Amino acid sequence: MCGIVGYIGKREAAPVLLDGLKRLEYRGYDSAGIAILKEGAINVAKVVGRVKQLAESDRMSTLQGTTGIAHTRWATHGKPSERNAHPHGDCTSTIFVVHNGIIENYKELKRNLEEEGHTFKSETDTEVVAHLVEKFKKEGNDFETSVKKSLKLVKGAYAILVMTTSEPATLIAARLSSPLRIGMGNDEFIVASDPSAILNYTQEILTLKDEEVAVLKDGEFTITSLNGDRVIDREVEKIDWDMEQAEKGGFAHFMLKEIFEQPETIENSLRGRVIVDEGLAKLGGFNAVKDELREIERLTIVACGTAYYAGQVGEYMIEEYAELPVETCIASEFRYRKPILTPKKDAVLVLSQSGETADTLAAVSEAREKGVLSLGIVNVTGSTIAQNTDAGIYNHAGPEIGVASTKVFVSQLTVLSLLALFFGRQRHMSLTMGKRIAEELLKIPDHVRTILTMNDSILEIAKRYVNYSDFYFLGRKYNYPIALEGALKLKEISYIHAEGGSSGELKHGPIAMIDPNFPSIFICPKDSVYEKNLSNMEEVKARQGKIIAIGTEGDDELGKIADDVILIPKTLEMLTPILSVIPLQFFAYHAAVLKGKDVDKPRNLAKSVTVE
Ligand code: GLU
Repeated sequence: MCGIVGYIGKREAAPVLLDGLKRLEYRGYDSAGIAILKEGAINVAKVVGRVKQLAESDRMSTLQGTTGIAHTRWATHGKPSERNAHPHGDCTSTIFVVHNGIIENYKELKRNLEEEGHTFKSETDTEVVAHLVEKFKKEGNDFETSVKKSLKLVKGAYAILVMTTSEPATLIAARLSSPLRIGMGNDEFIVASDPSAILNYTQEILTLKDEEVAVLKDGEFTITSLNGDRVIDREVEKIDWDMEQAEKGGFAHFMLKEIFEQPETIENSLRGRVIVDEGLAKLGGFNAVKDELREIERLTIVACGTAYYAGQVGEYMIEEYAELPVETCIASEFRYRKPILTPKKDAVLVLSQSGETADTLAAVSEAREKGVLSLGIVNVTGSTIAQNTDAGIYNHAGPEIGVASTKVFVSQLTVLSLLALFFGRQRHMSLTMGKRIAEELLKIPDHVRTILTMNDSILEIAKRYVNYSDFYFLGRKYNYPIALEGALKLKEISYIHAEGGSSGELKHGPIAMIDPNFPSIFICPKDSVYEKNLSNMEEVKARQGKIIAIGTEGDDELGKIADDVILIPKTLEMLTPILSVIPLQFFAYHAAVLKGKDVDKPRNLAKSVTVE
């Protein structure tokens, strides 16, 4: 999500940290901050906005010293503000931390610390770490032990850097589920979320693993495990990426990087929100309106583009599992069609990655004017939609750079699955069913990891089909919106003409187009409409149409009809879209690359659509 960078060595830390932050800015850019230690004091500068503003701020001239930490933020807890910008300090301003990730149990930790007399300055989850270290130090532990004791209490994900005035020559780095690399210079260390912030200084880079703690001191380092003091001997790699490759994590494009990030994206969207034993989804953002939500009689989901297709999947999920009527509407239509909305009976749920989409924002205003509850699923914390809705859930997907959405789409599907569970358990869903969904949801990241191994074979399929100029994408029920999304993805980045539709609609017109030059991609997992889908596939085959089929592992039937088959892991029917969309993302990506298109910045498109 955000970018963190730390320096300890002989040179002035500030220029190294600012340079690192600039290179990490693609990871988060709502606010930035830096803390530098000198002569027993830590000086801090923070700004809302970009790293450039931080570099130009008056405070920077006061920041001298050779040990420091810095952060460019992508807020998850607490709006983007100077107060919430990192680094965060303890009560005595002698311990400072920067953090990337989410501390799931921060509320409970914060409550306990407040009861013990600690005063918090920010709304972030991160600040608890500074106060925990303070508490353990006061109890007589040394700095390293205090950090370790603190991190043992933390649930969630973190890449963290900590420094203190009491051990001025020491920087501590630790990670759990968020990346952290240590650059090994000559008597100096540069620690950062990714190599792009390090490569200007050294190519010798060590990757910290989960639950490892590195202590950097006097040009020496030790790595020990969080539980126990096992010293870890980790190899230093030589990374010879250029800067552009480094930002993309070694991937050719941001889109590909983001496709590969999806297991972690889903984990971040689920983090702290699934209670398996009780079969519940815990959606903190809906707490204040949960009683009103129990009473509503209809939910209208409003969104644009890819988010609209995610909404359509949500419609199927919520209607089937919560028995709550749902209608999904394109935002640009919603506001002009005079929607009938009744206070207390209706609620409007909008989906927007940026939280700034103009048409979607208008739907929020429409709902508010009509006195109807407005809800949001948004990726950007503190965005206009996040502020204007009555309640909401953040995706926690981190910044998405590729214009064609991939990881935010799967995150939207993940959050909508949580919402189906939430509404379902509020209404008629049994505990057994709730548990089943919760368990299957937690398995989804590993299923996605399995699909990611198919990248090369999907490239081979794409090579065989890339010269066709028209495609159908077809599916039924939960995978009908995925067919629409698959077609959109191909159009957006490869400019190949593609239409998405329902397999069942084929015979009502579109089948007229089928001939050997018009291939179809069928999404046909083993679900409640499998047999129907197979029949539709036969109809296409009978007209000499080429077929690529996406099915469930172990399915031997598809290969008898389809020319090419991609098999994905088995999951609950309602969750299949999260998996079936990934081969389609790969297909679109490879088709676009093979055609020489600018995948991350497709022509005519913008990432955040703030006009009508
Ligand atoms: N959860 C922290 C915050 O909201 C860190 C977010 C991040 O990783 O960008 O400040």
